[in-house]
Amino acid sequence: MKPKIKEIVTPLIKHGERIRIGYHEKAFDVMDKDNKIESLLSSFDGKKGLEELARLNNIHLENLIDLLNTFDNIKILEDRDLMENLLNEQEKERYRANFTYFEYYTDLYKSSYEMQKKIKDSHVLILGLGGAIQDVAALASLGVGKITGLDYDTVERSNLNRQYIYKENDIGRLKTEAAKRRIKEINPDVELNIVNKKITSPEDIMPLLSNVDLVISGIDSPGIISSRWVNFACISKNVPAIFSGINGNKILMNKLSDTGEGCFDCFLLHCLKNDEIFKFQLNTLYGYTFEKKNTAIAPTVSILSGFITAEVMKHLLNLENQMNTGYMYQFDLNRLTMDSDYHWEKSDYCPTCGEISLKEFCDITTLMEIIEGK
Ligand SMILES: [Zn+2]
Repeated sequence: MKPKIKEIVTPLIKHGERIRIGYHEKAFDVMDKDNKIESLLSSFDGKKGLEELARLNNIHLENLIDLLNTFDNIKILEDRDLMENLLNEQEKERYRANFTYFEYYTDLYKSSYEMQKKIKDSHVLILGLGGAIQDVAALASLGVGKITGLDYDTVERSNLNRQYIYKENDIGRLKTEAAKRRIKEINPDVELNIVNKKITSPEDIMPLLSNVDLVISGIDSPGIISSRWVNFACISKNVPAIFSGINGNKILMNKLSDTGEGCFDCFLLHCLKNDEIFKFQLNTLYGYTFEKKNTAIAPTVSILSGFITAEVMKHLLNLENQMNTGYMYQFDLNRLTMDSDYHWEKSDYCPTCGEISLKEFCDITTLMEIIEGK
């Protein structure tokens, strides 16, 4: 073991006989009359083993181990020995700020390199490379090792108000081709698979889901049915997914867990049950093409991309405080608030994730009949 004091708790701050460790709400003060704590902590540079540290600080090895455990409880140390061969030199340089960020989650038994390696070993599928091209760029920059991106469209000038990873000279190119070029410029180490395909059924999605850790659904057209295709495919293959949308100043997101509980069809059943008008709304919007109604602008697409890619990171690293399935998260740009009040339960009658789920994708009329029959 080669303990290293985390960057986030340095430099150590001295005031009188006290030493302050950390910043902000996690900072705490300890008495350090003879500067022993300061010199002990400073000796944890990630290069020295325990015996050398004990000798240098003139303490018994057992006492040093006790102290290390105490410091580890307050999560101010990492073990450099755990980190040595996980990443190459270029990666160590590229992701330096990632490592410092990951220090908020690490200890002597879990290193920031290990967290980066976990991200590197992950595979994210992004359906639709419109606004979601921003997610691809952010995930490539974060260091996700494998990204599969699907689209069938070409870059148009009218996309460039928000899909700013694409450039003027990408106009007319297939989005998949333009994406490949741009993402390689951002991070050449990312393995980017592109699939040039128009999704017209869950069966188009299922073959893409093997060894995928998470799906980002960036397709919203044809209306509602495309989200149902993604939902059905992901539940069939037990792959979690994030859905999202932008409606003026509202940014909406929801997550489907790998158990599929409270899926998108459950959401539709919930709406049908609780809102009489929703049936007519559903009939109108089902299969509708939203192109001319698109209100997405660069600021809202950027905010959405930040929320989604942060959620992807939390998911891949199994961090706390992830989005819950069965909740609609709504960020309001006017009020600068995030609400998650809108909630739906898993429906036992859901034909997709319920007790008697169907093997095949059902039509929307089946959902309506389920509600009318209950
Ligand atoms: Zn369901």
